[in-house]
Order: sequence, then structure tokens, then C-alpha cells
Amino acid sequence: MFASPVELEPGILRLTLPLPTGPRHVHCYLLRGDDGWTLVDTGLGLSGTPWDEIVAGLDAPVVRVFITHMHPDHVGDAAAAAAATGAPVLQGRLDYEQCERVWGSPDWPRRIADWFILNGVPEPVAEELLQSGHVFADFVRFAWNPVPVEPGNEVGEWRVFATPGHADGHLALLRDDGVMIAGDHVLTPITPAIGLYPESRPDPLGDYLASLALVEELAPRVAYSGHGEPVLDPAARAREIVAHHDRRLDAAQAALDGEPRSGYELSHALFGRELPPIQRRFAVAETLSHLERLVVLGRAVRHEDDRMVSYTAA
Ligand SMILES: [Zn+2]
Repeated sequence: MFASPVELEPGILRLTLPLPTGPRHVHCYLLRGDDGWTLVDTGLGLSGTPWDEIVAGLDAPVVRVFITHMHPDHVGDAAAAAAATGAPVLQGRLDYEQCERVWGSPDWPRRIADWFILNGVPEPVAEELLQSGHVFADFVRFAWNPVPVEPGNEVGEWRVFATPGHADGHLALLRDDGVMIAGDHVLTPITPAIGLYPESRPDPLGDYLASLALVEELAPRVAYSGHGEPVLDPAARAREIVAHHDRRLDAAQAALDGEPRSGYELSHALFGRELPPIQRRFAVAETLSHLERLVVLGRAVRHEDDRMVSYTAA
């Protein structure tokens, strides 16, 4: 059942779409500007979202579709949204490069499975992780060759900020009145997943902590995010999330017991032994982002040959 957009404040509508897995929903936004509406994010390409109906309910045309990041629940229905609105899709340059590499190339699933094996995931488990990834791949219909956006650009009344971490090319929008459209950069009550993936920036958690410092500095009045509740004090929420990662960094360091340990082994120490494949995938990636941060901080050492990556305490 499709739920109509909800007005959060004048000219800002929230459109909540269903997801088949946790957190079960994603929020997209419609932003009224002088030139018409900007649609931010699109949901998965599965929900039968009635874009025609949504567009017909607006008092002006949708003049652009803006993508915060290339995760399936944000970019997945971009092609359909663009077709229904006739509007151009705007996406960060780096974000689109990764989007094309991950969702547009047939050999990506194999490359990510091999990379999990390198990080200690037993082969049968890596195959399970691979299959769980396919669940999403089938529902991603991103828009080819979008209009590239860069941090610092203006999109209507909004300024574009680079907020890497949750995704390398993640972008957020901020308006002069202190409203931030945050994508998955700051969430409440859940915390955004920060994972290391192959061919990504080397220290995503370091990137993320810097992006949280930016939120503290910008101190928006409110952040409207991709999941959960509006963040009413984004700077305070940023500090809470930093503290959460400090605790997890300490836990990751404590789990290094003298023997070389893979990201997969350590994910059991940090996230428990019993996890369904899709959650194990996130747990391994999240464990690795913390281990790589510890390496940068001089608190852990990475050992690597062509068969295995492992970590010890420094
Ligand atoms: Zn995301």
C-alpha cells in the first residue's frame, strides 16, 4: 500500500517507501524551490512506486532528481523516477563511478566474493554472502549518465556537501535556514553502517568521523534522513555517533589477542556468531572499517599476502 507524501514543513515533503529488509522503509524527499520540486532519492526499483500519481499531486513540476548515494534503497528506482518526471538525475561524480562499477558490471559479485575470501570468509559462506547481495542487485535500476554534481555546487536553494563515510561519494544538501537533507549520513535511532569494500577509499571510518565533524561545525537546525526519525539536533547526534564508533574501535582493539585475525573472525567477536548472511556481510565490512582505522591510528597492524589479510595489535 502506497502512503502519500507527508508535509514536514512548508515546501518539504517526505515520501516513505517500503523495503523488504531492515530497516523496512526508506524516506525520499520532495523539496519545493522557486523553479519547481527537487526529488531526493528514489527507493528500491521494486516497490511499484506510483511516480505518475505523486507527480500529479504536486503544484509544480519535478525539475530534478537528486541522489545522495548509490546504495540500492536510494538509487534503485532512479530510472523510473526520471522517466515519470522527465527530469534530469543529478548524482555525485565519484558516487556515480561506484554506482556503475557495482550495479552496472556483471563481474562485481565475483570480485566482492573473492575479496571477502581474502578477508577470511570461508568459501561456502562467501557464496551465501554473494547470493544475499543479489537480492538487491535485481532491484537496482539506476539512471545511466546522470548530470554530475560536485561538493560546493548549488542545487536550487540548496548547497551540496561531501559527506563520505557511509558511502565514499555520499552527498548531503543544506539550506540557509539550517535544514539538512542528510541521506544516510546522520540517522536516529539507528547508526549508519560504515563498511570497507573493495576498490573503495582506504579509511571509510576516518572519512566518516571527519564528515560528522562537519555536521558539528555546520550545526543544522534539523536533518531529514533516509531512515528513522528527523534528527532534531544533528550536531549532538553527530557527537553520539562518534562516541559509538570510539567504543567499537576499543572493542575491535581488545579483540586482537596476539594471533593474526581476519576481518571475518573479528566480526564474530564484535557482532556475535549467529547472523544471517546479509547481516554478516555488513558485519565483516563494518569490522574491517574499524580495523583499518586502528591501523591508521597506529593501534593495529595489517598483514597481507595474496591469500589472506589479517590484523594484530600494534
Ligand atoms: Zn545507504
